[in-house]
Amino acid sequence: MNRRTFIKSTSISGISFGFGGLSTVTKSHILTLSFDDGFKKSFYKIADIYEGHGLSACFNVIASGHFSDFKQVDDWILPELLGDFDDWNKLKSRGHEVMPHSWQHLNLAKQPLEKAKDLITTCLTYFEDNLVGYKHEEAVFNFPFNSSTPELESYVLSKVMALRSRETPHEYKNNIFRQSCKTNGPKNIDDWVDRQINTFLKSDGGWLILNTHGLDDEGWGPLSTTYLNKLLKRLIKIDKLERYLLH
Ligand SMILES: [Zn+2]
Repeated sequence: MNRRTFIKSTSISGISFGFGGLSTVTKSHILTLSFDDGFKKSFYKIADIYEGHGLSACFNVIASGHFSDFKQVDDWILPELLGDFDDWNKLKSRGHEVMPHSWQHLNLAKQPLEKAKDLITTCLTYFEDNLVGYKHEEAVFNFPFNSSTPELESYVLSKVMALRSRETPHEYKNNIFRQSCKTNGPKNIDDWVDRQINTFLKSDGGWLILNTHGLDDEGWGPLSTTYLNKLLKRLIKIDKLERYLLH
């Protein structure tokens, strides 16, 4: 079984049973880099780097990011940098995961509840209509700004398999349905990522999810291309680390 097949089968098992039921997972540490927003140039580069190491990447994209009326978010999510669903379908067909990261990247926790629910539904419907092979029952909804409320989390879980939001105090005790992540920015995060991973590797184990964005000059808290390449080269040699860099 090559690594791609291994990761793919692990992913499918994970979706069906959660990590407790994973017969193929024998390692103690699971690590995911979860790339947000949909930066076209960066995401193709990230895909190439992952493929170079026999791995699949995890991408989370804004459903309306390619619309002509999409509005810039803060200083980092610029409409001209974002890809469209032709790009996302190409990356998905190459074996990478592409998941919903909201309709317009509004802070959903700050919207009136019914409006926030409508925005979530609009996003998920757009994914169903435009991303080939997308299924709600296998999807992870990634909250923008990792900002959610208990009501919104319940709503999302009534629609899709899992969600990703802000970190909880239960370090590394993620489950497949309520994934919590750490994130850092707005400047380059190479050193921060390195520290997070080194601390995690010294721990008893679990699942570390780092929310990342673009590469080099793109996005809030970017990684450098050189560092990502070096990091993956190092990680795939670590025996106790599950090479489950998907969700
Ligand atoms: Zn985002």
